[in-house]
Amino acid sequence: MFTLGFILLAVFTIILGSWIILLKRRSHAGISGWVKDSDLKGKGKQYFNRTTGVAAKPDVVLRGKVIEVKSYPALNSPFKGDILQATAEMNAVGVGKAEIHYSNKRFLVKNTTQLRDSLMRVYQAMQEHFERSMAPKGTPTTRKCRVCEFNSDCPERL
Ligand code: SF4
Repeated sequence: MFTLGFILLAVFTIILGSWIILLKRRSHAGISGWVKDSDLKGKGKQYFNRTTGVAAKPDVVLRGKVIEVKSYPALNSPFKGDILQATAEMNAVGVGKAEIHYSNKRFLVKNTTQLRDSLMRVYQAMQEHFERSMAPKGTPTTRKCRVCEFNSDCPERL
């Protein structure tokens, strides 16, 4: 009887400990609500919108919302490329809202017609480049080129 009680207490303590750790991690990442899917440890699922052909793997999928987690800070607004990425994720999953979590602040992005149109313009341009096997015109900067993995071969390197 004592052994059984001890085992039950140990199991309960492990479950409670894991639950507290999970809650702390979620609160640290600013996640509230039921997590349907997470790619924060690289095990997330790829979402695909059959109508548009847009595929994406969001960092976190909640009910009605996705979260994209960035390791770098933002200024006063989210970066354009990150908004586009969040838009692709919202449309691949089929939700109306996204949050972009930077290391210093968070932004809410809504899945508007304007953002969807921008996404589709970029997507079509990418498809055209892909079909013609042509690299799109880049926006090189000295900082980007210095750390770029292709900088030893790239003729556009700054
Ligand atoms: S080295 Fe070339 S590919 Fe890399 S960032 Fe610069 S321009 Fe772009």
